[in-house]
Amino acid sequence: MIAEILCVGTELLLGDIVNTNAQYLSKRLAEIGVSVYHQTVVGDNEERVKEAYDLAFSRADIVINTGGLGPTKDDLTKEMACAYFNKKLVLHEDILENLEKCFEKMNKPMPPNNKKQAYFPEGGIMIPNHNGTAPGCIINENNKIVVLLPGPPTEMKPMFEETVVPYLSKFSDGVLHSKVLRIMGIGESGAEEKIKDIIESQKNPTIAPYAKSGEMIFRITSKGKDLEEAKKLIEPMESELRKRFGEDIYGEGEETSIEEVVAKLLLEKHLTIATAESCTGGMVAARLINYPGISEVFMDGAVTYSNEAKMNRLGVKKETLDNYGAVSPQVAEEMALGIAKTSNTNVGISTTGIAGPGGGSEEKPVGLVYIAVAINGKVINKKLNINGTREYIRIRATLCLLDALRRELLHLS
Ligand code: ATP
Repeated sequence: MIAEILCVGTELLLGDIVNTNAQYLSKRLAEIGVSVYHQTVVGDNEERVKEAYDLAFSRADIVINTGGLGPTKDDLTKEMACAYFNKKLVLHEDILENLEKCFEKMNKPMPPNNKKQAYFPEGGIMIPNHNGTAPGCIINENNKIVVLLPGPPTEMKPMFEETVVPYLSKFSDGVLHSKVLRIMGIGESGAEEKIKDIIESQKNPTIAPYAKSGEMIFRITSKGKDLEEAKKLIEPMESELRKRFGEDIYGEGEETSIEEVVAKLLLEKHLTIATAESCTGGMVAARLINYPGISEVFMDGAVTYSNEAKMNRLGVKKETLDNYGAVSPQVAEEMALGIAKTSNTNVGISTTGIAGPGGGSEEKPVGLVYIAVAINGKVINKKLNINGTREYIRIRATLCLLDALRRELLHLS
């Protein structure tokens, strides 16, 4: 199978951005056995995008197109692909709903032109986008395939790995098999640095590291003559990664989540839990309650936003609040101990922080969050400094707290 990479964007032609998408895709396609003979870059121009499609399909079976899926008028790849294949764009209510939710989360009204992103090529296969607003698409028309992916690499990479690689494996002679390891507590560049030598020498299996919703994903992909051989090929790389990352690997698999791992540990160890949240406003409790079966151990969740609530509901001391302030390790610890005591649970966990955008100071900037984990009366706290929007700070704090709890539970004798 021959693929051609088509990157759309005037910024690329002007040299304002480096075409890292083409580099990433070329590398990954080679690794999974798809030949790439040409890469093309065109500006946001209808005529030239059409010419690029004509040329690409005269010499390739599949065109992988990045960029131009955005909401503005010059984002035209979806329209161009539809015109090329003579397909209609139809409004998808579920995409529209998802877009509206994304804007709601960002506390912004959805601009009318974003509705354009909810139109999807008729008969196309949807590529979910967990890091952005609009999904990508695969159109397969008489064995001419076009894959439409967004421009931002943080969106493009997971979409390619999670949907396009498995899709392309159908056209490969061998069997492609992937295993996902999920990592917390180490950033993207740190994680990549730790496996630089593996990335440089990889053949079969290959490893694709990418960030996704506050965690790192390592996707190991192998090619074998059958599934059994492909699975076997993954084993040595997996054990090497487990050796290098140890406890930072919190789980494996496409669907596994940190709350699932924590919930299973609580159930296994027969430990009841209650949550006391300030800046996360219930997100931690909501995450835990995502797990069906949590009712056996989850007893109570309090959103104690004001100082009064922290004192009245959790028994945080007035002098602790006066001496150290609400955003302090001391208050986080008293919150965790307090919720465990008042809810009569083994475990109490807490968050207190400054989610912004206002309210920060030099001493206590926006993004400063303290989390605490109390287990059977023993308490630890952790200081976090998170950069980002209010929404991002709250999500990160939630994930970090669940991860801190996971690590404490693992060490519990
Ligand atoms: P959006 O919805 O964000 O507008 P899009 O699919 O329309 O996404 P573009 O508008 O073309 O994508 O590009 C958005 C951003 O993605 C660019 O400003 C750039 O930062 C990044 N980007 C686009 N194409 C590439 C590329 N080929 N390589 C690396 N980064 C890219």
